[in-house]
Amino acid sequence: MNSIPDIIIAVDGYSSTGKSTFAKMVASEFGFLYLDSGALYRGVTFHCLEEGLIGKDGKIDEDRLKASIDLLDLHFRRAEGFTRLFLGERCIESEIRTLEVSSHVSPVSAIPFVRQYVDGRLHTFSEGGRVIMDGRDIGTTVFPHAQVKIFMTADEQVRARRRYDELVAKGQTASLEEVLTNLKERDYIDSHRETSPLRQALDAYVMDNTHMTLHEELVWMLGLLQGKFGILESPGLSC
Ligand code: C5P
Repeated sequence: MNSIPDIIIAVDGYSSTGKSTFAKMVASEFGFLYLDSGALYRGVTFHCLEEGLIGKDGKIDEDRLKASIDLLDLHFRRAEGFTRLFLGERCIESEIRTLEVSSHVSPVSAIPFVRQYVDGRLHTFSEGGRVIMDGRDIGTTVFPHAQVKIFMTADEQVRARRRYDELVAKGQTASLEEVLTNLKERDYIDSHRETSPLRQALDAYVMDNTHMTLHEELVWMLGLLQGKFGILESPGLSC
């Protein structure tokens, strides 16, 4: 039986389609490194909020951000099976998942020099390959030559409910309405910005997981990989 070669797998799609859950599961099943590009955009946004670079009107002080971004030491650390985002020595994993960060992240991500910074980090972290990465422009811009590209989508209401349940489970307060509005706004800004907008790559496989369980997603992925690379060893999957 084959194992999967050291390839790059790009997972893109709309907000809250479960990209990171799917990518983490595939990473652990097939022994890939998982990289969350959205976490880096969230990290830059957290830095902006902490340093007062975003005004009450939502305007971003791009000059000050540009002056500080190259010194921003955002990196991932792995411990006990989890990957967490660090800013220098500080773990900011929960700070970047708040609705406040979510409501500012798309305008911050639309700034070309922010994208350049994040792309640079992603290329550094993925040296050596065997990486699965999720985001909005991985298969179109960051790794246009990724050997496997997946584009995830799901019904808007279902996505909002999943995100809402996640926030509530973490003890955060938000209404389902707020979550749905944020999700729609992010999708709109992400798809309409000038620099590497959210698009389905022409050679991406589309997964609509509105009615899929995680196990079904994994079976779908195994089918796709088997089609590309032949019969595979799959350590944990007994189906
Ligand atoms: O994936 P996540 O929802 O955490 O991403 C947060 C935000 O980061 C997205 O709404 C989008 O604005 C931005 N993003 C991006 N390009 C990526 C990943 C995320 O613009 N590759």
